[in-house]
Amino acid sequence: MPEVYPPLRPPARLLMGPGPSMVSPRVYEALAKPIVGHLDPYLFEVVEEVRSLLQLVFGTSNPYTIAISGTGSSGMETAVANFVEPGDKVAVFYAGYFSDRIAEMAQRHGGNVVRFEKPWGETFEDGEARELILRERPRVVAYVQAETSTGAFQKGKAICDAAHEVGALVIADCVTSLGGMPVEVDKTGIDIAYSCSQKGLGCPPGMAPITVSPRALEKLNARKTPVPVWYMDLKLLDGYYNGPRRYHHTSSATLWYGLREALALVAEEGLEERFARHLRNHRAFVAGIEAMGMRMLVAEGSRLWTLNTPRVPEGVEEPKVRKRLLEEYGIEIAGGFGPLAGKIFRIGVMGYSSTRENVFTVLDALAAVLQAEGYTPAADGKAAAERVLAATA
Ligand SMILES: *Cc1c(COP(=O)(O)O)cnc(C)c1O
Repeated sequence: MPEVYPPLRPPARLLMGPGPSMVSPRVYEALAKPIVGHLDPYLFEVVEEVRSLLQLVFGTSNPYTIAISGTGSSGMETAVANFVEPGDKVAVFYAGYFSDRIAEMAQRHGGNVVRFEKPWGETFEDGEARELILRERPRVVAYVQAETSTGAFQKGKAICDAAHEVGALVIADCVTSLGGMPVEVDKTGIDIAYSCSQKGLGCPPGMAPITVSPRALEKLNARKTPVPVWYMDLKLLDGYYNGPRRYHHTSSATLWYGLREALALVAEEGLEERFARHLRNHRAFVAGIEAMGMRMLVAEGSRLWTLNTPRVPEGVEEPKVRKRLLEEYGIEIAGGFGPLAGKIFRIGVMGYSSTRENVFTVLDALAAVLQAEGYTPAADGKAAAERVLAATA
């Protein structure tokens, strides 16, 4: 007798970490639709719809706006591989883990990396960002708009202005901002922005939206050496998605459907309303955390609306809290790493996960778990969050 394998039964988790976030039933439905071939006219209809919806969420009119087959890191590597040539000076604004990953990739692609460093969780002021770029005069500048390892938002206008003054291109990591807060590629002056599908957009992982300015494309066309990564060569991908629609790789119709549906939800909600929802729920969450007597790592005004990083109270062991939340409440959050290991929680309230109910659920569960781990919250966090929401409703 052949063995019987019953259908998979994954646990029902409430995903409140730095990604993946929760997926809407409508996106799940789209993921179950019949696939078409990777050159089917219908696939290109979906690609075109995704292109214009991505232009909306990125805040750009760049015609070169697509999604790479791969996770957020593939977007990062696409940006680096296409725009860093061996010997190029690459300036990286470093104040957290993901800028380090960009620096590592840039180095592997032959870039001569210069780091502008700050302690994790801080951000660069306009004046200092400008000064550093004018001093180093790099060919490429990279920064992380939404640093998921710390919860900080890095403003980009001054960075882009200074970079353009010295003729450099700007790469911005918008992985945890896209779909949850304004990215504003064109207004900021970003040349290459990339993201992922599983954070602010509320889709499963597997796609990396990317947008490239006409200015950056000119530089790409002027490259002296071929892009070393065939799979992520933007010119070859241009032949697949934008131009003659020639076979390059077998992109997943399923993932295109999911991304299309997630973006349709963004457009139907309205960008402004969606950002307002994220800001509202973020503020409510922070009010709850502070009422409980905890402090946030990042200064007010530089915090992400999508990902919150409260400091772990003195005497509490962060991994134990995380384990209890998962085992006893089915809630996934994350902890800090690198210099912030054991020091912060990373709690995502983004995309389809950003609801008042989830804010209350997490605050209540966190209060109970902290109590069990020896920390008594100063006041009722959920009540504080409710007051904020009542005031902004
Ligand atoms: C998640 C993340 C990435 C990497 O995305 P993956 O989908 O895990 O490959 C890159 N940059 C930032 C800022 C992120 O938060």
